[in-house]
Amino acid sequence: MYELRVWLPSQVRAATDPWFDNTFSPWVGCSKVSSGCTNCFAEAWNSGRGRSNWGPGVVRAPQSEGAWLSPLRWNQNAQGPYRVFVGPVLDFFDSEGLPGARARFWEMTKIASKLTWFLFTKRPENISRFLPADWGRKYANVQLGVSVEDQAALVRRAPLLAGVQATRFYSIDPLIGPVDLREHLDGISWVVVGPEEGPSSRPMDPQWTAEIRARCRERGVRVFDRSSSLREMPTTV
Ligand code: SF4
Repeated sequence: MYELRVWLPSQVRAATDPWFDNTFSPWVGCSKVSSGCTNCFAEAWNSGRGRSNWGPGVVRAPQSEGAWLSPLRWNQNAQGPYRVFVGPVLDFFDSEGLPGARARFWEMTKIASKLTWFLFTKRPENISRFLPADWGRKYANVQLGVSVEDQAALVRRAPLLAGVQATRFYSIDPLIGPVDLREHLDGISWVVVGPEEGPSSRPMDPQWTAEIRARCRERGVRVFDRSSSLREMPTTV
């Protein structure tokens, strides 16, 4: 049995995915790296705006100066935990990302220290290369994760995250195949899981998310399941 999902435009994702309060992208653009990217909503959003900053060897578009001011405003107004999903229209550890924007972002996380920043990637092999030289306690408000779409992606990416000193999590979204987390939950603080969305979305079997929830429950790992009412908010620092 498969679930029928309704397509949600990227603009309303923050409102309907309440594991984060807002999003921030230091630049715009990326390249597809695996089957999880097949129906990338960010690429569709990008091309819908007439931009061509997607693909290998293509220059990524810098973020506007106005957008860079938003996190400062969120930080100033934050009355409690405020979670920022970094990079809905990029992969922060993309080797073709903009180096200046990446450096500016790291400084931003120190200035906007009341915010909790969530970065997840399909390129964990690049994490250590692109962490700042002073990575450590100064970045306690930054959590790092890998994006996983199926078992093959989990087996490939999870070990590369395991060695990183950070609060770590998995984004299993879009889930396009069964995932067995039993050997991969050491040191993981929380998991978000959800189905693919959009007109070409691939079906998700609710049993797959039930398995993920069960494995997490066994290990005391919090789960935010976008396809069900089980929504445990992620850790803040
Ligand atoms: S890594 Fe993410 S942003 Fe980049 S193409 Fe794949 S799904 Fe899209």
